[in-house]
Amino acid sequence: MSSVLPTISSADAPYEDPLDLMDEIDRLKAEKDASILAHYYVDGEIQDIADFNGDSLQLARDATKVTTSTIVFAGVHFMGESAKILNPEKRVLVPDLLAGCSLAESCPADKLAAYQQKLRDEGRDFLTVAYINTSAAVKSLTDWIVTSGNAREIIEKLPEDKEILFVPDQHLGRYLEEVSGRKMILWPGACMVHEIFSVQDLLRAKRNNPESIVISHPECPHSILEVSDFIGGTEKMRKYVASIEKPTKFLVATEANMIHPLQLAAPHHEFVPVPGIMTSTGETCACNRCPHMARNTLAKVRDCLKYGQPEITWQPYFEKAQEVLTRSLL
Ligand code: SF4
Repeated sequence: MSSVLPTISSADAPYEDPLDLMDEIDRLKAEKDASILAHYYVDGEIQDIADFNGDSLQLARDATKVTTSTIVFAGVHFMGESAKILNPEKRVLVPDLLAGCSLAESCPADKLAAYQQKLRDEGRDFLTVAYINTSAAVKSLTDWIVTSGNAREIIEKLPEDKEILFVPDQHLGRYLEEVSGRKMILWPGACMVHEIFSVQDLLRAKRNNPESIVISHPECPHSILEVSDFIGGTEKMRKYVASIEKPTKFLVATEANMIHPLQLAAPHHEFVPVPGIMTSTGETCACNRCPHMARNTLAKVRDCLKYGQPEITWQPYFEKAQEVLTRSLL
């Protein structure tokens, strides 16, 4: 990945009034015939100006319904790639090309190809299932792509006589083994945000709020999942809290910006983000914010609309990834 725009850290960027930026973005959207798709983990103010908000699965599907010629994808790099793969004829822009994903980066395509070859050399008969948080190059090496929303359903219908190689999230893989009963070969990857939650802090918060309900993303380690009342991807979380009528306090173990769509879906509840690890000074770190998602800012959304870059361009391996993504998600 290389950025064609100079990268300015938010600390160096001049202050710009968010309301002025929102007005400018609305004007540019109309002028450039663009739609904005924003993941639930980006700042709430970006979610507010987006045409579509959602998790990876929802946004991949929404990307195919966009009628404008340009898509601005406020999320991370692999999501912009998926939008381009599913819409080759559209221009796909991302606010910051350097917004990556620690989970996707834990499974590089060359290492996966070498491991698959090793398994074949051993005579193993397997299918490769990838979580959507992978690069397009990795997607092109797989048989199925899943999200936290449809993973169980896809895994349960795979033929019993094949082994399953699941990449890249070992925690989600372990959770899927438990709920589906299928043993899998797990790639040892993890998300830096979900891996950092402290079970001690969660238990302390639960003890202080005995009536609260703990909701967790399946990317969290097993120690967090086993003390959770509800486990589900972002879209399932939203539906779950909206289905409960009685005002309730929820302790939320996922990226902290997820509180914004939860609050919109069910304003009668209280949502408390589960803290990350305790620092040496006794404070809780802010590591439940994804640093890659945080690279998206209103100013960068405005700039990519204005200058028409950075753009995700079509790569030869997108073709194979398109075949797998379309079969798996649409
Ligand atoms: S929260 Fe984790 S999985 Fe999601 S984009 Fe950030 S690093 Fe990747």
